[in-house]
Amino acid sequence: MSGSAHRRIGVLGGTFDPMHNAHTAIATEVKRALDLDLVLFVPTGEPWQKEHYSNAEDRFMMTVLGTGGVPGFAVSRIEIDRRGPTYTLDTMVSLTAFYGEGTDLFFIVGADAAAQLGTWKKVEELGAYCEVVTIARPGFAHSDIITKPGWPALRPVTAPLMDISATDIRERVRARRPYADLVPAPVARYIEERGLYREGSRSA
Ligand code: ATP
Repeated sequence: MSGSAHRRIGVLGGTFDPMHNAHTAIATEVKRALDLDLVLFVPTGEPWQKEHYSNAEDRFMMTVLGTGGVPGFAVSRIEIDRRGPTYTLDTMVSLTAFYGEGTDLFFIVGADAAAQLGTWKKVEELGAYCEVVTIARPGFAHSDIITKPGWPALRPVTAPLMDISATDIRERVRARRPYADLVPAPVARYIEERGLYREGSRSA
């Protein structure tokens, strides 16, 4: 990622608890639709919107394992290594400084998360750093997203609707129902080896 050529980088933030196949599909669709050079997966450190979440290193490892070997995918520890609650604006400011001039950033979100845009920290400042790319999700359409003048530009990308959520996967693991087709194989192995989401485990 060095040199002076113009770069286009997608940023897929998430809890990744666990990383699942919809994450991979979204990243692949947006990468192709917007001709991105790279999609950076950014696991959150302390997701302020969620009460229960697994330890950051497990979520980071699952994201590394789930993206492993896919050209044009990378994982960043930027939010995990920053103390305190995770705000997208802080991440975009840091990534803009890191990648420097000549890089366009695209923050990728599901329509469920984008519908909460009004609750994000200093959302009116975010547009200076990135465009927000939205993906519809079962139960959440692009039209559900409320935006206001001064908020970042929204760019809807059409992708197949995918009825996969980390919440459902955690429930399946706990109930010993099948979930292996919903996550990359190395992620399923990691969940089993670490005993994640089982009754009594810290992540359950
Ligand atoms: P949980 O069920 O725990 O809330 P999740 O499945 O939404 O988790 P996250 O890691 O929180 O997974 O998601 C990261 C990003 O990917 C968010 O912007 C979310 O909206 C988006 N996303 C996740 N699953 C889908 C999906 N099936 N379709 C579209 N977007 C999705």
